[in-house]
Amino acid sequence: MCGCFLLSRVSVKIAFTDISKAGNRYEISDDAWFPESELHRISPVQADLVLNRKGDNQVEVQGFLRTGVQLACDRCLADYDFPVDVDFHLVQEVPTDESWHIKELECSGTDLDTVLLSEPVVDCWDIFRQQLYLSLPEKLICSPQCRGLCPTCGIDLNTGECSCVPEIKESPFAVLAALKKK
Ligand SMILES: [Zn+2]
Ligand SMILES: [Zn+2]
Repeated sequence: MCGCFLLSRVSVKIAFTDISKAGNRYEISDDAWFPESELHRISPVQADLVLNRKGDNQVEVQGFLRTGVQLACDRCLADYDFPVDVDFHLVQEVPTDESWHIKELECSGTDLDTVLLSEPVVDCWDIFRQQLYLSLPEKLICSPQCRGLCPTCGIDLNTGECSCVPEIKESPFAVLAALKKK
C-alpha cells in the first residue's frame, strides 16, 4: 500500500522511520523551497516525490520536477525562458561502518547515484533545489543561433546590424568556427 501525502512546510524533513517499505508518495504544490532570490521562476511548480525505505540506513528517492525559469544569455545578455523538466532517481544513505566497508569491496549494488546524509532524514526541499540546479545548462545561450553582441559597439546582432568591421581574429566564435571547418 502506497501512502499518499501532501507536503506542508512543516513536514519538509521526513525521518527514515516515517517512510514505509511500500513507499510514501508526496505531491508537491508548495513552492516555498524555490530559491526566488537566485532564480526568476516563470511557471508554476509541478512536482512529485516517492520515497521507499530500503533498510535502516537507506531510502530510495524517485520523482519529477517541472517548472520554468528565466535565464540571461551569456552571449547577448537577453533574458530567455528555460523549461525545467527533470526526472530523478537516487538513493539517500546514512553511511555506517559496515556500508563503507561493503562499498570499498564491491562499489555498492546499485547503479543509482547515492547521496550520503549525516542523519537519517530526507530533506525534500533540498532534493528539489539540487535537482533544479542540476537541470540548468552549463552554458546559458538563448538559442544556438544567437549572434551575441557586437564586440565593438555593443549592439545586439540578433535584432540589428551595425557597420563595425568585424575583428575576426579576436572573436572566440570565429576561432571556433575556423577550427570546426578543418
Ligand atoms: Zn543570446
Ligand atoms: Zn558594432
